[in-house]
Amino acid sequence: MMEEEALTEQPKQEEIVSKAKNQKRATAQIRQEMKSDGAVFLEFDAPEMTSDRWINEWRAMEKYGFLITTPLSCIIPYKYYWQSFDKGDKLKGHIRSMHFFKNKDPDRTRRVNQHGWPCEEQVSHLCHNPDCVNPMHLHIEMKWQNWKRTYCGFAGSCDCGMVPSCVKTYTNSSTFHQSRTLENDPSKINILCAVLSNAYPFKLRPKNFYDVEDQKAAARKKRKQKERKHEEESVKKKKKQAKLQ
Ligand SMILES: [Zn+2]
Ligand SMILES: [Zn+2]
Repeated sequence: MMEEEALTEQPKQEEIVSKAKNQKRATAQIRQEMKSDGAVFLEFDAPEMTSDRWINEWRAMEKYGFLITTPLSCIIPYKYYWQSFDKGDKLKGHIRSMHFFKNKDPDRTRRVNQHGWPCEEQVSHLCHNPDCVNPMHLHIEMKWQNWKRTYCGFAGSCDCGMVPSCVKTYTNSSTFHQSRTLENDPSKINILCAVLSNAYPFKLRPKNFYDVEDQKAAARKKRKQKERKHEEESVKKKKKQAKLQ
């Protein structure tokens, strides 16, 4: 699926990295924010073939929780990993998903076919939500094939002719985020995600699963601040004493 934003010039790599560094925040704070938006914590089983590096990359995103839409069960990570959020991490959620679940990376080598059509590989969203990381909604195909899905389904069902067919008709990313409905009820998540969990098993963690870890981190932060303050004061004291002598 092509986004019109994708046609404009992309920000430079260094720009993205520096922006990402500037907005680094505590895990607990992000998790709290995600929770208040209605996030749930899914912990997926790591597929056997997947490398530790790709597992770690997925876990780094997974720990913040996911927003799950109904009825299609799009899985939306923390905004930092959205494809449609240019200030976020440069390794986007759908690529992490492709790595983790399918042990695949699109071959981005630029090439064209006999008609001059772009044939480098991309990760297509069958749900037309560029921020979704549900592996059932992702498919690697050539750029021209991905673009052919754009504006699919004006009359209400997939009419782009692509295989596999789209699971939803086209909307752009902002329309999607405005019109989406989230499933916040944990007891309904397992039913909503039954097909997904058959293919890619996960554990649904309770909402307070990370609370102890987050409280410990907050206590550690407080202790460090206290220690720093204490150190600063003793330095001041020593300076004062040295002046008096
Ligand atoms: Zn989706
Ligand atoms: Zn379609």
